[in-house]
Amino acid sequence: MSKERLPYSRKSVVINRAKQSGASVKAAVQKRHIKIDHSSIIPGVDVNDLKRSLDILKYALDYSEAIVDTVRLPLVVLNKKLQVLTANKSFYDTFKLTPKKTENKLIYMLNSRAWNIPKLRHLLEKILVKNTHFENFELDINFPHIGRRIMLLNARKTYRQVNNTEAILLALDDVTVERQLEKQKDHFIGMVSHELITPLTVIKLFSQQFEKYLVDKKDKEGFFYISKIAGQIERLEQLMASFTKVYSIQTGNLKLQRKIFNLNELIKLVISDFRFTAKSHTIFYKGQSGVFVYADKERISQTLINLISNAIKYSPDAKKINILMKSNPKEVTVSVRDFGFGINKEEQEKVFERFFRVEDKNNISGLGLGLYISSEIIKRHMGKIWVKSVKDKGSTFTFTLPRYVNQ
Ligand code: ADP
Repeated sequence: MSKERLPYSRKSVVINRAKQSGASVKAAVQKRHIKIDHSSIIPGVDVNDLKRSLDILKYALDYSEAIVDTVRLPLVVLNKKLQVLTANKSFYDTFKLTPKKTENKLIYMLNSRAWNIPKLRHLLEKILVKNTHFENFELDINFPHIGRRIMLLNARKTYRQVNNTEAILLALDDVTVERQLEKQKDHFIGMVSHELITPLTVIKLFSQQFEKYLVDKKDKEGFFYISKIAGQIERLEQLMASFTKVYSIQTGNLKLQRKIFNLNELIKLVISDFRFTAKSHTIFYKGQSGVFVYADKERISQTLINLISNAIKYSPDAKKINILMKSNPKEVTVSVRDFGFGINKEEQEKVFERFFRVEDKNNISGLGLGLYISSEIIKRHMGKIWVKSVKDKGSTFTFTLPRYVNQ
């Protein structure tokens, strides 16, 4: 008998025969539909090799099944008609279902039709037709007997071993507790900032009076100390303003006060303030005159300030910042480029999330709120914001706004 290893194609011929005989590979292996009889020799086939292959296959199947059943994430596999083929233990536990109540049922019928949501149906159908997948689709379902659940759904097309038919693998990440905690945190932060504003205003008022007094008395040392206090009061005010803004975004109360203004002029004004205060970097600007937007001037100015101060803050060894504004008849694009630390690919997606900060060996302080607030402001204006960055080379933050064109 030849000791040569079987070519892969030949192994698959044998496996396919097992499939065609009506049994799945798994069943074939487990129930030993394929009998390994050392005395029977298929011409040209090394039976030992075949047995080894089947053992490996059985091991792989058992192994993947064990993983699927052990993962804490609820998983469910659907067929083309969106009926449940299988689900893991976590799925049954989370949704208080049994295999009997679940298998072969349309997903929309489970849990007294709680899953019957048009948007979900649309996404699942699209996967099979267009060969796409979806990630982190947030679903808020009020289940009978279980209560309200907020879930992130991830789905992709897969192939079943039986007949190689198409199926959908759906993974459900229950984020109900996280969302509740986030809400509590926002509420707490909003409440605390609100409560702190009054005493801080009073402290500021008295420190300004005291400053005048020290100036009158020509007390240089006293004036030095009070100016330090004033600087910290201003910092506290900015922090609280960020908290209050986050709170109003979260509660849907971020109001925009729009008017038509010249964006080129605003950018120049913001840059001139930086040229005055931030001497470490030179800011180069290339813009376009006569570009107007219908937007909240104050908030667009805050967004620019945030992007420019980040560009300075995260590029301490660089000397310049490039700002570019260009437009087409429909939109205006503004980008702020620095030559600093840069951001890793994985972290680039996260920098616009609340409280996200890239792990920082340089001890640069911050709250991780500026970009979140900026992105919410831009989104509220129907614009887009994104970052392109190369680690250790620098970052370019870009946003767009619809252009105002006088009819
Ligand atoms: P903060 O600067 O207060 O931490 P932001 O929301 O403005 O908060 O930024 C979030 C994070 O994104 C920062 O902590 C920093 O890690 C990263 N980041 C922002 N801008 C830049 C930049 N220009 N270069 C490198 N990293 C940046």
